[in-house]
Amino acid sequence: GWRSRAAFKLIEIDDRLKLIKPGMKIIDLGAAPGGWTQVAVKRGASAVVGLDLLPVDPVSDATIIEGDFTDPEMPARLIELLGGPADLVLSDMAPNTTGHAPTDHLRIMGLAEGALDFAMQVLAPGGGFVAKVFQGGSERQMLEPMKLAFSSVRHLKPPASRKESSELYVVATGFRPDRLKQD
Ligand code: SAM
Repeated sequence: GWRSRAAFKLIEIDDRLKLIKPGMKIIDLGAAPGGWTQVAVKRGASAVVGLDLLPVDPVSDATIIEGDFTDPEMPARLIELLGGPADLVLSDMAPNTTGHAPTDHLRIMGLAEGALDFAMQVLAPGGGFVAKVFQGGSERQMLEPMKLAFSSVRHLKPPASRKESSELYVVATGFRPDRLKQD
């Protein structure tokens, strides 16, 4: 079985957009307790590396390490564990909630922006990026660099994501690092 209810969100996103393809190298940021990592393995990725601040029980055919994605050594370390640049970077990262919605939204957007920055360091050309974001707030700040660096940017609210939560996912595909260098 899946380790988290969150697993169904990735299943629904992937059923819609067919992001995970056999043989892909995939990074899962904020992997605990391991649901998204399980889905990535199950859908045929050849290498999956998960990362979380919290310890995660082993997932077969995946590597999960404990650490902070903002650690400057992390991009190189994950590429090494993966055996090359990533085809897909997933981020379901969320901070501990404070109960103060504006603060929680800002923090989650900080994580998403950090994940985007991370993705741009580890993705192979043509790669994809999925991140948990929040409706409204500073989300627009992220869109401009994303639209420049990826050929397609979409938003998706999977049915498994609670209706009353303003959580949604941004999905970018077709990473084109050359576009970043020109600007
Ligand atoms: N997708 C997971 C699953 O299906 O099991 C659930 C992920 S959970 C919603 C969010 C995770 O993000 C938490 O476990 C949290 O520890 C992690 N996280 C938050 N900030 C992080 C950071 N700076 N580096 C690594 N992981 C982080």
